[in-house]
Amino acid sequence: MTLEQLHALFIEHPTICTDTRKITPGCLFFALKGPNFNGNAFAKDALEKGAAYAIIDEEEYKTSDRFVLCEDVLKTLQDLATYHRNQSKAKVVSLTGSNGKTTTKELIHAVISQKYRTIATKGNLNNHIGVPLTLLSIKEDIEMAIVEMGANHMGEIAMLSKIAQPDFGYITNFGKAHLEGFGSLEGVIKGKSELYDYLIAHDKFVFMNADDRVQQEKLAPYIKKIGFSTTDHQFYTITFKEANPYVILEAEGTQIKTQLIGRYNFPNCCAAILMGKYFNVPLGDIKTAIESYQPQNNRSQIISKNGHEIVLDAYNANPTSMKAALENFSLMDAKNKTLIIGDMFELGETAAEEHQVLADFTQKLGFDNVLLVGENFFRTQTVAKKFKTFEDLKDYFLKNPVEKGTFLIKGSRGMALERILDIL
Ligand code: ATP
Ligand code: MG
Repeated sequence: MTLEQLHALFIEHPTICTDTRKITPGCLFFALKGPNFNGNAFAKDALEKGAAYAIIDEEEYKTSDRFVLCEDVLKTLQDLATYHRNQSKAKVVSLTGSNGKTTTKELIHAVISQKYRTIATKGNLNNHIGVPLTLLSIKEDIEMAIVEMGANHMGEIAMLSKIAQPDFGYITNFGKAHLEGFGSLEGVIKGKSELYDYLIAHDKFVFMNADDRVQQEKLAPYIKKIGFSTTDHQFYTITFKEANPYVILEAEGTQIKTQLIGRYNFPNCCAAILMGKYFNVPLGDIKTAIESYQPQNNRSQIISKNGHEIVLDAYNANPTSMKAALENFSLMDAKNKTLIIGDMFELGETAAEEHQVLADFTQKLGFDNVLLVGENFFRTQTVAKKFKTFEDLKDYFLKNPVEKGTFLIKGSRGMALERILDIL
């Protein structure tokens, strides 16, 4: 079957499933392979559960006309996504970066959909499977697609750019995340900049944070750039007002009061405002979109519980976002501050050093109580209280209940520190 024929089949059956537990009637089932499973083995089951066709890549599983045999199911899914994207009239905006991709993507989506029919990556589906699925969710009437691209190793953003073929791109920041795969901060910069490489090579537009030194340097010779800055007035000026705790900013004399906490959310908002401006969304509508956006999934939320004020940022953590969150918490106007931070994953060889740096950093910010949890933090030299496991931390709270405190809770996803909410 040619790609064109497969696309015709997709237009007839525009729902894609890759998991037999989530089959919807009439879908196309793509039999992907993982380290521990072979989707081909589930293809028959998918058809029995109502899939219209199953795309497979092992001939022995083809027992009827409803199996479509191809060379490589993943590659076929990706090629189909690119084909579909090129059939559509939608403009594609891709974004990547170490921190803040999902938040920025949601903000851009909120702003742009004030004027255009827009789709965006669902949740965090930002990898070699998520990006194709996002592109395949572009329906005929869609005008803009906001596509998050994640990476934990070199070459990944180049590959995702080739699949998504963005017309516009933005890199949120370059930080110490996924050091295991990128080796160093230099590696991160190189890896994330693959998006710039694609855009430049294809003469496309780049949105930039002109306050970011690395972005300035990288894009210095490139003309097709659209930037925001707090200080450099050759770009669109946006002024930071405060983050106490919610970010307030100003553009063209209009104040925008966000529901986002943390100074680090300021550039995320700026990127969305800049894109809104570029695509002619009226500033009043941009303001409405940003002011009504509420973060979800444990990303920088403030929760009031039993007299406590809890800054819950337990969705993920790496050295850069951790440092930003700690600084922000230290600036917060509040009493009886307890910091609870958990291990940062995927740091490779730098894990011991980065945890030590952070453990030392906690001592400079004047918190009333500092609690470190996880095996990496447990190995640091520190005067802070440290706990090897979450259970140990839980025991501590049961023995030492806190009255009316302010908390910052942050750690890598695997630490699932939102569980602390059940104890407080
Ligand atoms: P992932 O790699 O999991 O896809 P992401 O890049 O999509 O993450 P978000 O989910 O938007 O990032 O935010 C995760 C956390 O990163 C936030 O809760 C916050 O602590 C931190 N963060 C967000 N924006 C920034 C930023 N611009 N600079 C530094 N840290 C940030
Ligand atoms: Mg994300």
